[in-house]
Amino acid sequence: MKNMESFLFVPEGSDFTIWNIPFGVLERKGYTAVCTRIGDVIVDLNQCMATPLFDGLDLPGEIFLQPSLNAFMALGKGVTVPAREQIQAALAKGGILDNDIYKETDIFLPADDVKLRLPIDIGDYTDFYSSREHATNVGTMFRDPANALLPNWLHLPVGYHGRSSSIVMSGTPIRRPNGQTMPDGADRPVFGPSKQLDFELEMAFVIGTGTKLGQTIPVQNAEEHIFGLMLFNDWSARDIQKWEYVPLGPFLAKNFASTISPWVVTLEAIEPFRVAGPGQSPEVLPYLAADGKKNYDIHLSVEIIDADGASKPVSASNFKYMYWNMCQQLAHHTVNGCNVRTGDIMASGTISGPTPDSYGSMLEICWKGTKPVQMPNGTQRTFIQNGDTVRIRGWCSKEGVRIGFGECDGTITAD
Ligand code: MN
Repeated sequence: MKNMESFLFVPEGSDFTIWNIPFGVLERKGYTAVCTRIGDVIVDLNQCMATPLFDGLDLPGEIFLQPSLNAFMALGKGVTVPAREQIQAALAKGGILDNDIYKETDIFLPADDVKLRLPIDIGDYTDFYSSREHATNVGTMFRDPANALLPNWLHLPVGYHGRSSSIVMSGTPIRRPNGQTMPDGADRPVFGPSKQLDFELEMAFVIGTGTKLGQTIPVQNAEEHIFGLMLFNDWSARDIQKWEYVPLGPFLAKNFASTISPWVVTLEAIEPFRVAGPGQSPEVLPYLAADGKKNYDIHLSVEIIDADGASKPVSASNFKYMYWNMCQQLAHHTVNGCNVRTGDIMASGTISGPTPDSYGSMLEICWKGTKPVQMPNGTQRTFIQNGDTVRIRGWCSKEGVRIGFGECDGTITAD
C-alpha cells in the first residue's frame, strides 16, 4: 500500500484515513452536496469545484451539488475512480488542498457540525441469503438439522425483492412494528407489537452503472457495476416472519425498516483487502464461476446499547465468510435479463461466522431465545427491547492501514 499521510489530523483508530475517501451527502441550510471525510473533518466536494482539484476530469458543473450520489455514480468508473484518486492526492500532505488559502473556506467542516443524509436515491432493493452459516443455523432451528440447507442453496444465491421506501439513514429511530403472529399452541393469530424484534448484520452494495432490460452482467464484469459498500441492518420481526413467510418469503416482518450507514466505501478503497471466499462444492454452473479473490476481509461488529448508554458487544463477524460473493449475486440477479439501475441496493443477507460469537442475529446468538445475552446492568436480552440501540461497525485493517465504514445505528421506540 502507498505510504500516504493527510495534512488533516486523523485520530488514532479513525475509520476515515487518507486510504478511505468514502462518499456521502451533507445537508446545510437547505443546501446539499456530495462530501468525503478525513478524520473528523468533512470535505465538501462541491466547494472543491472552485479549486484545481478536479482539473482534467471534465466533470459536469453541478455533479456534486446534489441531494444524492446517483448522478456521480452514473458517470461510471472511468470518471469516478480518477476523481476519487484526485481527491485523495489533494488531501495528502503537499496536495492541492494543503494550502492556507483554503483554510477559511466552506471546504472543510467539523464533522460534529454537519448533518449527513441518506447518500443514495435508492431504486430497487434486493436482499440475498448468502451466508452458509446463517442459512444453516436458521434451517436447523426451524426445519431439520439433517437437511438445514434446502436443495437449491448450494447452486444459486437465494434472494428476495425487498422494499426501498423504508431504508433509512443511521440514527433514524425505528418504531417497533405491529403485526399478526401465531402464538405457540394457539389456534388463531393475534395482533400486536412484535415480541421478537431482531437485527440482521449485513453489508449492502450499491449499483453505480445500470443495464438495459434484457442485458446480463457476466460474473467477470460485475465489479464494473458495483460502486461501493455500506453497513446494513435488515431489521426483522421474527414472530411476524414465522407466521407470514410461507410460501412467498418475508413481507411485513422485514419491510418496516432497514438502517444503512452514511458513507459509501468504494471497491477501490478495499481492494488491498481482497481474500478468497470459502470453497464452493458442488461446483457452480459456468455462469456463476468467479475466478480469483472475490471476497473482502472486513471485520464486522454488533453491540446493543441500552437506554442508559451501557454497551454489550454481541457479535464479531467478517464479510469474508460469505459463501456467495457480490459478483455471483449480481450475475445471478441479471442472468434472466432483469435490469439494474444506478442506486439499486443489494444486501448480503445476515453475515454469520462459524462460531456462536460471530453469529449475525439475535435469533442465532440466543438460539431461538434459549441462551439469553447478559447486559451490563444485569438484565437479559433474547431480542431487542424498546430503548435499545443496535450499532453495527465495519473496518478493514492491515499493516497500519485502516479503512472503516462508520456507524450504522438504530434505536427502537415503542409501537
Ligand atoms: Mn436480511
